[in-house]
Amino acid sequence: MLKIQNLSFSYAARQVLKNINLDVKKGETLALLGPNGSGKSTLLRAICGLLTCTHGSVSLDGHPLASMRPAERARWISVVPQNAILPPAFTAWETVLLGRTPHINFLGQVSAHDEDIARGALEKVDALCLAERFIGELSGGEQQRVLLARALAQAAPILLLDEPTTYLDLQHQMSLLNLVHRLAHEECLTVVIALHDLNLAARYADRIALLVSGQIKALGTARQVLRADVIAEAYSWPVQVIDHPFLDTPLILPDSLN
Ligand code: ADP
Ligand code: MG
Repeated sequence: MLKIQNLSFSYAARQVLKNINLDVKKGETLALLGPNGSGKSTLLRAICGLLTCTHGSVSLDGHPLASMRPAERARWISVVPQNAILPPAFTAWETVLLGRTPHINFLGQVSAHDEDIARGALEKVDALCLAERFIGELSGGEQQRVLLARALAQAAPILLLDEPTTYLDLQHQMSLLNLVHRLAHEECLTVVIALHDLNLAARYADRIALLVSGQIKALGTARQVLRADVIAEAYSWPVQVIDHPFLDTPLILPDSLN
């Protein structure tokens, strides 16, 4: 579904992405891991066409991203960005309806169908009760759920999430990742999710790409990628990796001292 070939990107003289090659299938959840500044957000921005890359290409189900107009791209890809700034005077409901923009006709009329989808999206993220509240009055975690609902209302086959669990409490962190994982399987979405928590990535991702200094250093299942030597080198911090007591995943325990 999502194919990235020989992708490189520079901010002025600084090269941030170096020859990235990545395939993500329909129904697959890929976690993007890597230390601060390794290029995760830049890669997500390149995938959704916000950055023009110096080399390489991105294609969506065989269609080159570079030849798509913004509205067409928005029908393919929805995004939950890191540090998004939402209009504070909009209600959650109005914000989620914005997700329908690429589907709304040239007269700009919101149909009952659009409203049904927006309501369903708010329900999925447990935020229907926030519909009439103003964005500026919501907590960071509540805003994050509204952002996810806006992305789901877009009904695109590819969903990109940039550190979506940052502001969420335990319950909403787990339910967001459960939801995203379930949607990937049930609705055959292609999901790429930048995460910091290695254990959440081990639990929820089908595969993991580890990005270090703009290069993919490891790509594979949690067991293949989340090895103590690989993590210690990437994050410059020693860790122990043990078997999770009841899941078939590795469990990463950072050492207290390096
Ligand atoms: P991550 O999401 O993995 O923390 P980013 O993709 O945000 O990393 O950043 C990768 C590198 O690119 C960092 O060195 C960062 O300082 C740099 N960078 C990010 N955005 C810009 C920008 N708009 N202009 C110049 N450099 C940037
Ligand atoms: Mg980032």
